[in-house]
Amino acid sequence: MMEIWQKRAEELEENDPLAHYKAEFYFPENTNVYLDGNSLGLLSKRAEQAVYKQLDSWKKHGIDGWTQGENPWFYFSEQLSAKAAALVGAHAHEVSITGSITANLHQLLTTFYKPVQGRKNIVMEELAFPTDRYAVHSQLMHHGLNENHLSLISSNDGYTVDMDDILAAIDEQTALVLLPSVLYRSGQRLDWKVITDHAHQQGAVIGWDLAHSFGVMPHDLHDAGVDFAVWCTYKYANSGPGGTGGLFVHEKHHGTIPALAGWFGSDKEKQFDMSGEFSPAADASAFQMGTPNILSMTPLKGALEMIEEAGIDRIRSRSLKLTSFLRLGIEEAAADESALNIVTPSDGYGGHIAVSHPEAAKICRALKAKGIVPDFRAPDIIRLAPSPLYTSFHDIYETLAVIKELLETREFTKYKNTRGIIA
Ligand SMILES: *Cc1c(COP(=O)(O)O)cnc(C)c1O
Repeated sequence: MMEIWQKRAEELEENDPLAHYKAEFYFPENTNVYLDGNSLGLLSKRAEQAVYKQLDSWKKHGIDGWTQGENPWFYFSEQLSAKAAALVGAHAHEVSITGSITANLHQLLTTFYKPVQGRKNIVMEELAFPTDRYAVHSQLMHHGLNENHLSLISSNDGYTVDMDDILAAIDEQTALVLLPSVLYRSGQRLDWKVITDHAHQQGAVIGWDLAHSFGVMPHDLHDAGVDFAVWCTYKYANSGPGGTGGLFVHEKHHGTIPALAGWFGSDKEKQFDMSGEFSPAADASAFQMGTPNILSMTPLKGALEMIEEAGIDRIRSRSLKLTSFLRLGIEEAAADESALNIVTPSDGYGGHIAVSHPEAAKICRALKAKGIVPDFRAPDIIRLAPSPLYTSFHDIYETLAVIKELLETREFTKYKNTRGIIA
């Protein structure tokens, strides 16, 4: 079995046009295989260079760096937004690189959640990432409402949600829907076009959280008519810890006054008039608030240039080949070990494969001790994310070989079944 996998890995790698990108990344110490790119992507040489250049701009230009140097800071968000727009299927003026998912969610929920008599509910799914839930909760409180107005779509298996349940939850009392493009634990991908159409038929506004799809698969937010979306860039887009996030506001909503106004949301021509009256930008830039975190934004420049060059369709294609290979291998390796169960649907998923096991934390610790970095999500999920630009098919082979060995020797049982602060 192992020789077949090894040979298969070699063939897949040889025929893949993106294989050479792996050499452009730095790998952490004692790490052979890094499968945690859906939590924090790795540093590339291009992202690193972009930061050095930015520091140089500051060194050389001081305050004038806002309008001079290679990437004048005053227009830097717009420069990156144009690149990010291609990845979400939007016009450049519909995207803004700013804030974080949580901050952008608050901005867009405050702007677009308008509860009125008979239509006050927010629909989300019960497995939602906690910060999304917290943001929605505080929005309800802000309007003097409570969780009676939160419709949570329940999951039948604890990992995925059914399309029928999603559609049924959105009705004439729904004011706003917030859903993930890809569920962060199971990796299930939701059909944003079908759900967006349904939400609109019911008269609701819909926003999408693209945390687990941005940078690893293409989107068509504009054509799908999505109202708004948010994402982070430090997962598959490799922008580094705290890298600046992004938001999308469909052009049909341009002209809507941002609920949380700030001077960087101004029309650029007027920003330095220093008027007491806010003149918002005519596009998605209006939803920015304060001074952009230029240094936190900069690695994204190098990272996005690489993604643009590789091409998002080719990235998705490599990603699907990596995850299919991984899935088949795990199914084979775990054939005699019924406790190991792939929970990622096979017909629609994002960039990672999630496996459940009652001793998932132990297996994660054992993998890490062998130089393979997985990702643990309590209570029982092992997420394996082969980030397509720096994970090779050989890496998958190596991971499969170690998993097979661990299951056979049961060596993982000597580790603690608890998590650390993060994983
Ligand atoms: C990673 C992630 C976040 C993180 O939000 P930040 O504000 O960037 O810290 C939010 N939502 C989802 C679904 C995520 O996966």
